[in-house]
Amino acid sequence: MTYEKITARIKELKHLIKLANEAYYVNDSPQITDFEYDELFRELKRLEEKYPEYITEDSPTQKVGDKISEGFSEHKHKYRLYSLDNSNNYEDLRKWYERIKKEYPNEKDIELVVELKIDGLSCALSYEQGILKIGATRGNGIIGENITQNIKAIKGIPQKLTQEIDIEVRGEVYMPITSFEKLNEENIEKGLKEFANPRNAAAGSLRQLDPKITEQRDLHFFAYTLISENKELVKTHYDSLNLLKALGFDINPNFSLETGINEVIKKCEYWKFERFNLNYATDGMVVKINDFSKQNELGFTSRAPKWATAFKFPPEEVWTKLENIELSVGKTGAVTPVAILSPVQLAGTIVKRASLHNFDEIQRLKLNIGNEVLIKKAAEIIPKVIKKKENEDLGVYQTPTCCPECNSTLIKPYGEVALYCPNTKNCPAQIKGRIEYWASKEAMDIDGIGESIVEKLYNKGLIKDFADLYKLTISDFMEIDLIKEKSADNLYNAVQNSKTPSMTKFLTALSIKLIGKETADLIASEYPTLDDIENATVEDLIKIDGIGEKAAKSIIDFFNDENNLLILQKLKEYGVNPKGTAVEKESNIFEGKTFVITGTLSKPRNIFEEQIKKYGGKVSSSVSKKTSYVIAGENPGSKFDKASTLGVIILSEWDYSRLIETGQYSTSSEEN
Ligand code: NAD
Repeated sequence: MTYEKITARIKELKHLIKLANEAYYVNDSPQITDFEYDELFRELKRLEEKYPEYITEDSPTQKVGDKISEGFSEHKHKYRLYSLDNSNNYEDLRKWYERIKKEYPNEKDIELVVELKIDGLSCALSYEQGILKIGATRGNGIIGENITQNIKAIKGIPQKLTQEIDIEVRGEVYMPITSFEKLNEENIEKGLKEFANPRNAAAGSLRQLDPKITEQRDLHFFAYTLISENKELVKTHYDSLNLLKALGFDINPNFSLETGINEVIKKCEYWKFERFNLNYATDGMVVKINDFSKQNELGFTSRAPKWATAFKFPPEEVWTKLENIELSVGKTGAVTPVAILSPVQLAGTIVKRASLHNFDEIQRLKLNIGNEVLIKKAAEIIPKVIKKKENEDLGVYQTPTCCPECNSTLIKPYGEVALYCPNTKNCPAQIKGRIEYWASKEAMDIDGIGESIVEKLYNKGLIKDFADLYKLTISDFMEIDLIKEKSADNLYNAVQNSKTPSMTKFLTALSIKLIGKETADLIASEYPTLDDIENATVEDLIKIDGIGEKAAKSIIDFFNDENNLLILQKLKEYGVNPKGTAVEKESNIFEGKTFVITGTLSKPRNIFEEQIKKYGGKVSSSVSKKTSYVIAGENPGSKFDKASTLGVIILSEWDYSRLIETGQYSTSSEEN
């Protein structure tokens, strides 16, 4: 590159980064993705490393954050706040470790704490004699915004510590993903601006001039740094996290002490996917030297500590082209639009399809085939379309009026957003969907019967509903192309062996609208036989904790439908006979108590579930105010966070066994 070209590119990169910083830090409204920003930043860093003569003091690579927004008073930080150097590949992570190893050649001397990098807004809190005095944003690291009044409204930040000490605490203010989605829904309804992501929602909510607004937003805090003049207070980062917890802060439970870079990489790999089960956004992992004296020896660059680094996860958001909108008709007749995309790398996988939710969403986003769209992978596995490129107007996709499979006029039931094909009895897509679901793992679990076999059996006229699977003979199966006698024999046996399912599996497999496995389980534990269920009324069913009126009505409607009764009759004739799942009760110690299980326990979950039922309790899949206890194993997910927010008692496995032994709740810490 010539001198002119290099300086021009450096100037351009600085300008682009400056614009992005302004949008991100000052207006909380990013115009490019974090991945795109990081690419620009790394390119500038690479150029500056190669041509150090062009580094200027005002370069974004030499400083932290950006301007202080008007309206807040400035706060000069007692201890400077830094950013973190980061990489998006393991090779760079290893290079960082090699640099540390040069200082401490014996690997055993290098203890590393690995934690999640929470994608929120960093804040510094000063405590004097255990009392919160000042809360400030990071700002440029030297001067931040004084937001003390707003800080007081955040969960996880104590105003008074359990010890009367002088410390500074740093951490991340964040908004849970579910609260972010709710806030955006409310903003859409009120015609207000939507936030691009939970990080911007947290920042926008925290930096409100009116603290009452901050108070209304669901903001939380994870503390991750403790600074004290008293060098004897705590000597390692790991111990400081535990001390922060004891002082009354929320700390993120997912941290561990490791030796060797391979162990660190294993953790990064694990969280790369597992993070989608958390109810808060994370954009990477942070690796820190544990020993404070070594941290001091290693020191800082102008922008970041040398004793820590971040590994950034693959991008969660990426732009691609909306090639087509496919209409899929589900087993209950719901017609959903699916985005067919130009294949693109996202969060470690190649994505070709994304959810568009419903047709109202397409109208709201003003989407049409051909648009460039931003897709995102967040808490759910299936990515979704977030928005289209601004100023790209290709008109809006027309909502269909007829079923793409059977041409029936679509309906929109009152109070629902989805469109439905009403032709439950004859729409081939619905029938095939129900047969497929009947055989699926979640339902009857019939090995070998999947989409393509169902399609062929149906097209040949061999089956018209899922009950017909049981009348098939080995030679019927052999009528399907490429199926030999041995495979036909296996398929036949798999079907025949599924004739005595549990009531939960059977009810789930019927594809009753709103009745998934969890709800089916609740019904099955109260109504052990099909006759009992058929005779139940809406009033009877809503008495079951966890069954609402809509679900109860859906069950009654199902059992009043002639076509369904015919299928049930056929199933009976073919010898399909569900067995009640009511667990014989041993005692009533958990009578009236509802449990939710999260994380990995020492034994499979169903063992705990059966035990709870045996003792008269109920198991639910979601946490609500009504939940009595959450049993949390290793790496608990969003249910743990929700339970903490709602103040539901969280039990470790040990607490749970104590509860069985004594019938009373006591925590491990109380015992010690
Ligand atoms: P950073 O977010 O990459 O890393 C440093 C920050 O990580 C710390 O200040 C702290 O707030 C946070 N953090 C979270 N968990 C932590 C933990 N466990 N321990 C320590 N720190 C933890 O750096 P930055 O300087 O805050 O911001 C730069 C990043 O912001 C960019 O890499 C980009 O992702 C994003 N950004 C995006 C745009 C955009 O336009 N999209 C613009 C500017 C910045």
